[in-house]
Amino acid sequence: MAIEDIIQRNVVLKPFTTMKTGGAAAYFAEPSSEEEIKALLDHARENSIDTFILGNGSNVIAADAGYDGLVIRIGNKMSDIRVTDDPEDPEYRLISAQAGCLLSKFGNRAASEGLDGAEFACGIPGSVGGAVFMNAGAYGTEIKDIAWEVQYIEDGQCKTVRANPDMFGYRTSFFAQGQRIVTGFTARLKKGDRERIESYVRELRDKRAASQPLTVPSCGSTFKRPEGYFAGKLIQDSGLKGFSLDDSGAQVSPKHAGFVVNNEGRAGSEDIKRLIKYIQDKVFEDSGVKLECEVRFLGG
Ligand SMILES: Cc1cc2nc3c(=O)[nH]c(=O)nc-3n(C[C@H](O)[C@H](O)[C@H](O)COP(=O)(O)OP(=O)(O)OC[C@H]3O[C@@H](n4cnc5c(N)ncnc54)[C@H](O)[C@@H]3O)c2cc1C
Repeated sequence: MAIEDIIQRNVVLKPFTTMKTGGAAAYFAEPSSEEEIKALLDHARENSIDTFILGNGSNVIAADAGYDGLVIRIGNKMSDIRVTDDPEDPEYRLISAQAGCLLSKFGNRAASEGLDGAEFACGIPGSVGGAVFMNAGAYGTEIKDIAWEVQYIEDGQCKTVRANPDMFGYRTSFFAQGQRIVTGFTARLKKGDRERIESYVRELRDKRAASQPLTVPSCGSTFKRPEGYFAGKLIQDSGLKGFSLDDSGAQVSPKHAGFVVNNEGRAGSEDIKRLIKYIQDKVFEDSGVKLECEVRFLGG
């Protein structure tokens, strides 16, 4: 099959983002292997087409005008998980997933195997690839803390790297520099007590549900945590909790001021972006702190 056969034309991105906004990508493909990813990249390069790698779209705002390039969505066609013994230490096991596996599935599998340390991942709605790229984290643990090995594509080559903490920063990583496409991830986790681990997963899930607007479209925390502050607290102190500029549907969540939500999926990305800019300006005016976006932008 020629690689063109898996490329679709004019695919609306809204259903592929948790913010539920976004126009059409000129080209869109969901590869099922590393070979297909490489072939897509070759095809795009030969035809001077820009590319964007999309995971579960839980941290991306896609432009209303769409994207005049190729979106390569690494999703459930590349989502296998495997658990093996650590040949070097019987106290540990290795859990590996392809990049398109949901991070929650990864975390839940680790918990059900009685493996300690990936509980934080159960409530984060991204893919494994997006989580590695972003160094996703919650409740004091990040991808960096459990990463053992990462597979990625760079310059048309499949590579494997043994992870080390220096590869990860706050909501960024080595894989966010240049064009590196994460295709697989392995964590090394200690064997633990399954009941205790599963109960901790439930505790974190309840905590999240109590404090975050999980039933309304959003990208989670809109802004990075500024050093020494909490974005949500600064926004709340500026009187913006529950604030909206208009009736577009874009609103600062009344439940968690760090989240910009898209009520009923009515707002477009421009409405969301206008609100983000307003929040940044108001918080800067009130506190002198510059809020930097954690969400990433596709097109526009
Ligand atoms: C309700 C809610 C709660 C959230 N809570 C948290 C939280 O607690 N902690 C946290 O850290 N985040 C949280 N997030 C944000 C988001 O889930 C994470 O950033 C997640 O890691 C993004 O993964 P994704 O697959 O959705 O990536 P996408 O949103 O699809 O992409 C994000 C970035 O990663 C790149 N990317 C994606 N996949 C790959 C790949 N395979 N190779 C290379 N680059 C890639 C994209 O190009 C883009 O720049 C939350 C989001 C929501 C909606």
